[in-house]
Amino acid sequence: MVEKQEPIEEFRRGTFARVDCDDCGHQQVLFVRSATPITCEVCGSGLAEPTGGVAKLTGTFVEYVD
Ligand SMILES: [Zn+2]
Repeated sequence: MVEKQEPIEEFRRGTFARVDCDDCGHQQVLFVRSATPITCEVCGSGLAEPTGGVAKLTGTFVEYVD
């Protein structure tokens, strides 16, 4: 089984993005091209995973913060 999770297309255009944690609702600003996994600073749930380019979001995209 291949789990297909495409990066949000618009996510590629920004540098920083506000992402909503699916587990606790906390909103956190993260670097779009982070090379390390990003976790929620409140509950520790994953928000984005590195892919070598634009991070793959596992939280919910809210808006850009530039
Ligand atoms: Zn959270």
